[in-house]
Amino acid sequence: YNPQTEIGQLSGSLNAMLGHIEDAFDARTRSEIKLRRFVADASHELRTPLVSIRGYSELYRHGALQTPEDVGKAMERIESESKRMTQLVEDLLTLARLDERRVATTRPVDLLHLAYDAASDAHATAPDRTVRVVGLHDSQPEAAWVHGDESKLRQVVANLITNALRYTPAGSPLELAVGLESAVDGGFTSVLQVRDHGPGIDREDAERVFERFYRADSSRTRETGGTGLGLSIVAAIIAQHDGAVKLEETDGGGATFTVRIPHTKPVDEDSEDA
Ligand code: ADP
Repeated sequence: YNPQTEIGQLSGSLNAMLGHIEDAFDARTRSEIKLRRFVADASHELRTPLVSIRGYSELYRHGALQTPEDVGKAMERIESESKRMTQLVEDLLTLARLDERRVATTRPVDLLHLAYDAASDAHATAPDRTVRVVGLHDSQPEAAWVHGDESKLRQVVANLITNALRYTPAGSPLELAVGLESAVDGGFTSVLQVRDHGPGIDREDAERVFERFYRADSSRTRETGGTGLGLSIVAAIIAQHDGAVKLEETDGGGATFTVRIPHTKPVDEDSEDA
């Protein structure tokens, strides 16, 4: 027995423990700072439409809107600002629920099936756009099963498509590519890509678009009506599915968002090993 060694080991473990505590503390302050910024951003975003709703109602009440056209315009703004607030509150609630990380009802879901549904929804809402379902790497589209929450995964696809439609010029086509990739562990990864041919996203914005309320400048000025929360909702849902979402570099312009989730066995009763 050598007390010297014992003390040496003890001080080693003590240092390691202190290191862990420090890390945890840092993480905690970091997340507190993040939370504070989030609350500040959320209040700001909610206050903006409220201020303009109040402004227009005051103008109306004080008889400052002279013509029926002025009144009509003011009412239109009140309506669109309230819609914006509703969307914001809905998105904030979605995020808050995702943060609670409640165990969702999961079952096998085929991303290819979701892609076909989303493509036909897009066709109904944006008839001037072609939304094609294609395979990954120029192959045929193939089933891509994951274990997950179907309605949340539908929201992921919908948010990515809404952006692709919103930030690209009229008539510009989209592709939804679905298939499997080999995973490092020898299994497979199910992949869904939303590709557009619009202006794409600058490198400096690319790293930040998944942050809450972050919007690339050009889109802010273009008043596209988004809340800045769509991609953070996508990222939170995919994280819950042990997956990853990435904005890929594209050479020919346009943005490509790639979602990867661990592949699971299909539900098909007839499939090989059940
Ligand atoms: P929102 O669309 O409501 O602003 P998002 O979180 O969905 O918020 O997107 C964040 C920002 O990323 C957008 O404001 C826009 O600047 C940029 N963006 C997202 N998708 C695309 C796309 N397909 N093409 C170009 N820019 C995009």
